[in-house]
Amino acid sequence: MDKSKMHPESLMMSYGYKPHLSEGAVKCPIFQTSTFVFKTAEEGKAFFEVAYGMREKGADEELGLIYSRLNNPDLEILENRLTLWDGADDAAVFESGMSAISTVLMEFLKPGDLLLYSNPVYGGTDHFIKHVLTKFGIEVLGFSPADSRADIEAMIEAHPAKDRLAMIYVETPANPTLDLFDIEECVALAKHYSRSEEDRVYVAVDNTYMGPLWQHPLKHGADFVLYSATKYIGGHSDVIAGAVLGSFEVMKRVKELRTFLGNMAGPHTGWLLMRSLETLKVRMERQAINAKAVAEWLVQHPKVEKVYYLGMLDEKDQRHADIYKRQCSSAGAMLSFDVKGGEAEAFRFLNALQLVKLAVSLGSTESLAEHPATMTHAGVDKELRDQLAISEKLVRLSVGVEHPDDLIADLEQALAKV
Ligand SMILES: *Cc1c(COP(=O)(O)O)cnc(C)c1O
Repeated sequence: MDKSKMHPESLMMSYGYKPHLSEGAVKCPIFQTSTFVFKTAEEGKAFFEVAYGMREKGADEELGLIYSRLNNPDLEILENRLTLWDGADDAAVFESGMSAISTVLMEFLKPGDLLLYSNPVYGGTDHFIKHVLTKFGIEVLGFSPADSRADIEAMIEAHPAKDRLAMIYVETPANPTLDLFDIEECVALAKHYSRSEEDRVYVAVDNTYMGPLWQHPLKHGADFVLYSATKYIGGHSDVIAGAVLGSFEVMKRVKELRTFLGNMAGPHTGWLLMRSLETLKVRMERQAINAKAVAEWLVQHPKVEKVYYLGMLDEKDQRHADIYKRQCSSAGAMLSFDVKGGEAEAFRFLNALQLVKLAVSLGSTESLAEHPATMTHAGVDKELRDQLAISEKLVRLSVGVEHPDDLIADLEQALAKV
């Protein structure tokens, strides 16, 4: 059988692992080692030449194992498996989603460059862009879901660094309101502002909310797809990790900076994520089925004012419906809703939950609920929060793999307390 034609979920238990190299163990062991023994000094020299880019790897040559900051079997096999979902050339796994994101931003931006980014972005990303990148002289410019391509172009044209646009960074669907951004439109914008093939504008997409199953940014022309692997990829609320995927060309640079920042994931994290990948598809599919049941129940509840869920887009909103149809293969397992009232009512609901846990994070086997305005998005300017409908009455829900009837029963008793 031709394995290259198989679906990713069929390969998650075996791809990239050779049992005969590990005493026949059916599962990849944890290679809990900092360094690797070279057979000869000549071999060590050859491995370093390739690892440090002093020469290209030969046709049949494998990248030799040197030291766990550069490479480790748990990390390499995991990275190979991750590429299958997004159809990427290569992947790099990090010790957190933030380290994946910050490494890409630092490698592809330099002082004087302009970064264009979508609003809202994850709180940590928002902070890194506004308070860390700017400290290094990088100019930043945010745009909102309501801005058309013409609006965005006008904003760039009015910016003093308009000739130095270097990257467009988008998070879609946007957390917590599920606003969608058009990846192909961002790619077209990047082409338009690229000065040459060498001096071009890169497009990076944080795909944590939808990936790696339901949205594939690289297929729409993006250069990077970024993940907090803490979320769906890890999926059990027991590990912090991140990933970046892209072409060999860009990933070579990402991995090089990772080597020198030293923010790669360790072997145990790699092993945990490989274990998680085996059930990724069944988990995510079940979560999406549950989310649909929950959303359909919430929307008819008298104490719920509005439900934000990709499976219930306003039919009059042609732009969102069109992006959804082109970019997403499922409505996913994230939803938000406005409780009738304000913070007091939202808190009463959250405090009454019994099965659903009151916690930030998302994409895990257990359902999680939180209050964006005072928790995940507390650091976002009040004015921007108002503009984006991140109000005091908004509750965010990440739906897990529990029985949907039990989830609904929990929401029902908690809403009764409001
Ligand atoms: C959680 C999250 C991050 C940050 O990831 P960590 O693993 O917590 O560092 C980035 N982007 C999105 C969309 C997230 O949900």
